[in-house]
Amino acid sequence: MNIIIKSLTILAAAALSTSCGSFPGSKPPVKPATPAPAPTPVKKITKPTISSNAALAKRVLNHPKITLLRKQVSGRVDGASSYHNIASVARGYSAKRSSYGNAPGGYTKLRSQMLQTMLYLADTKGYKYRVTSIAGGSHSRTSRHYAGIAFDVDMINGRKVGYSNPYYKALMRAGRAKGATEVLGPGDRAHSSHVHIAWPR
Ligand SMILES: [Zn+2]
Repeated sequence: MNIIIKSLTILAAAALSTSCGSFPGSKPPVKPATPAPAPTPVKKITKPTISSNAALAKRVLNHPKITLLRKQVSGRVDGASSYHNIASVARGYSAKRSSYGNAPGGYTKLRSQMLQTMLYLADTKGYKYRVTSIAGGSHSRTSRHYAGIAFDVDMINGRKVGYSNPYYKALMRAGRAKGATEVLGPGDRAHSSHVHIAWPR
């Protein structure tokens, strides 16, 4: 009987010695299950939207087919012209709004989709055109311009926008194809001399 107990003890000891410390006696007390903390979002060093917008704006700014008016259509020089808007965004800043008429003042971002469309019109569609207004200028009180999601064009391929301009309709279509939902031009009220292309809010 003693021998049996002894050998059992030895066997048990052998079993325990190969268990790599996982036998119940050595286990640390199991902590009660607590909900895992929500993973903290990894902060990115770069701001992709802003940096890509800056890159897009830089391309618009330097594009040989895109002319950016350096003053308001009204003649004012207030740092909120289409040129100033694009130049600011190209440097990583927001675009300035005008502070006269219906314009609310302050600043806004420009939507990348709009900047991409500006490049698309020149690069892919081959238009040479002039932008008269983006975030600046005085428009209707609730204009999308103030939100940085609209731009105006008054010259296409060297010709003023108007009924006789042979390009404006196709340019408007191209804007719609790029997601613009408010596309106005000759035939629409207050748009006899420019095309307005705007994206949804
Ligand atoms: Zn407009």
